[in-house]
Amino acid sequence: MKITIIGTGYVGLVTGTCFAEVGHKVICVDCDAAKIKLLQEGGVPIYEPGLEELIQKNAASGRLAFRTSTREGVEQSDVIFIAVPTPPLPDGSVDLSFMEGVARDIADAMTSYKIVVDKSTVPVKTGEKVSETIRRYCKSRVEVDVVSNPEFLREGFAVEDFLKPDRVVIGVRSQRPVTALREIYAPFNCPIIVTDIHSAELIKHAANSFLALKISYINAISVLCEASGANVQEVANGIGMDHRIGRAFLDASLGFGGSCFPKDLSAFIKISEQLGYDFGLLKEVQKINAQQMDRFFKKIVDTLWVLKEKTVGVLGLAFKQNTDDIRMSPAMELCHRLRKEGAILRVHDPQAMEKAKAVLPNVTYVSDMNSVADGCDALVVATEWPQFKKLDLDRVRKVMTHPIMFDGRNMFDLEEMERLGFIYKSIGRQCQS
Ligand code: NAD
Repeated sequence: MKITIIGTGYVGLVTGTCFAEVGHKVICVDCDAAKIKLLQEGGVPIYEPGLEELIQKNAASGRLAFRTSTREGVEQSDVIFIAVPTPPLPDGSVDLSFMEGVARDIADAMTSYKIVVDKSTVPVKTGEKVSETIRRYCKSRVEVDVVSNPEFLREGFAVEDFLKPDRVVIGVRSQRPVTALREIYAPFNCPIIVTDIHSAELIKHAANSFLALKISYINAISVLCEASGANVQEVANGIGMDHRIGRAFLDASLGFGGSCFPKDLSAFIKISEQLGYDFGLLKEVQKINAQQMDRFFKKIVDTLWVLKEKTVGVLGLAFKQNTDDIRMSPAMELCHRLRKEGAILRVHDPQAMEKAKAVLPNVTYVSDMNSVADGCDALVVATEWPQFKKLDLDRVRKVMTHPIMFDGRNMFDLEEMERLGFIYKSIGRQCQS
């Protein structure tokens, strides 16, 4: 199939590259000329394991091209995917101006029948609006089918998730575009669920809100564990082995962040409100998440007392492991709070330091994770990068002014940390002695 992707970010670039990998001919369009130039020259604007190799291979084979012109993309493809941002507005609702702009650009360039597929996360009924907008602005009076195809990939595992999805959801208003969509996804050998367009749109917000709910649930349990002396990891294992519940997303932490969960949760609460339902359950999910960060920060303040001029090392800036994405990162929020209280920061992240430098000045960026602790009054683990488990803890303890560690991701063994001589504070668990 000839496919164009409009919006070449985390979702669009992975989508376009993986479609090319399975044999489709793909044009990735973006209005950011610098990003397209970088891609045309063989660079990759984001860090995502395995992506660079696939881009190089498919660009060299001629199946993957990068352009700034939506018109060119629309003219040369049968199916057009939209993967532009849908950021939150101050009241929590979704800013759909990028979607609307792209719908008009597509309409302006259309001279024959096209299938327009929305991959961005949007409120239920957005497909109707996209369809209306294209029909209104298209001078050629040609037909269009608008489809909802929400994306479930996880940053950090995006290529793997895209190539081996649990399921693909295709929401349609008529059966006409279904054959083409099935053909596009046939090489992925995964279950394809065809629904009405409203259900497909709802599935995405419902799925992300449920995952956020699971995280807040275990974070609430972690509070009970701290109060009672239980261990949240044992509890999570015990309940997670029940296949009706599952172990995934039951890791207590300093809270969830990133460009999706917080915004999708706010959006779903707002969408529900507009549909006449007060989704109080999800408001509680948000509240628990905010409290978790407050509680973690309070642990630091309670232990160090005055933060002014204390040197604190922070391991992790990205919102989670395997990505350079710092959007709505709990680690970044923590850094800002520590700086606001006057702490001197030494920070490290395996991939996110370049992006962090633009928004977190006046801190020392340390390239080696083991050196972050040098001269620190405390060390904080804020992102669950697996390599942090290999920290040289013996060295870390020796170079710190005080061997105090706050672990917001429960990465280390309680007894081991005690044996090494750390004052070790994690989430929902403490040493029995
Ligand atoms: P992103 O910010 O990384 O990328 C969006 C890209 O769209 C940017 O490169 C931007 O320059 C481009 N763009 C904006 N307006 C444009 C226009 N008019 N024409 C061409 N390009 C334009 O965003 P993302 O993280 O890829 O998210 C895109 C959508 O996918 C959002 O709705 C998001 O909620 C959803 N989503 C994201 C993830 C994720 O893990 N990031 C997962 C699933 C769904």
